Amino acid sequence: MIPIQYESFVKENFKRFIGAKGLSDDSLQRYFDGCFKDIGRIVPLAKVWICLKCLGAGPNNLAIDSNYGWGDKPAKCKECGNHTYEVGTFQARSSYVGNTFEHACHYLLVTKFRIMLRMSGRQSRLYDLLVKNNVVIETKGGPRYVMNPDGTKSKIDRIGMERSDTEKKAFENASKWRKHFPNGYFYILTNAIPRHLREHHDEKITAIYNVTKERDMTKFVDEIKSL
Ligand SMILES: [Zn+2]
Repeated sequence: MIPIQYESFVKENFKRFIGAKGLSDDSLQRYFDGCFKDIGRIVPLAKVWICLKCLGAGPNNLAIDSNYGWGDKPAKCKECGNHTYEVGTFQARSSYVGNTFEHACHYLLVTKFRIMLRMSGRQSRLYDLLVKNNVVIETKGGPRYVMNPDGTKSKIDRIGMERSDTEKKAFENASKWRKHFPNGYFYILTNAIPRHLREHHDEKITAIYNVTKERDMTKFVDEIKSL
């Protein structure tokens, strides 16, 4: 993995959007979007597709938008009519995106809300941010759009907790963690909550909050400070 100075661009986006404009749904959204945009400049997050049959005929036979290109793949290759494949998928870069989201949550909570917490780093793979031994936060977020090298944008179909594999992972982590802290508090911060998880609470998950909603953040911070 490329070493990335997450803190430096997170800080810049915080100054630009939240420091300058105060807290609102809009400034929160822009702050996280800005952070994702910056990591996309360092690590290209674009979708790429290619016709493997044409590629097999030699790279000289490749023509942009015809048998390879950026963004969503066409069903059929324009040159030979075979299937096209998405390569170098967005998911392959998901750890950079995940780290960006984690750093952005951390910086926001420490700087704006004065919550003392630390990143779990290698200490635990079950959560990302530690408030107290028995109060932890898992962060799950990603960008709705990624920029392609030609300037076009591609939509990411499911982000944050909308992804069922992400939901599954977060819930598994909560279960494992709870064995050690049966009466603890396990929160999930995300930038996308699907309908079936809205207002979700259960014996493992204390609550799931949307970091791009001012109301959610205020509620979350009040809760954390009361613990
Ligand atoms: Zn082809």
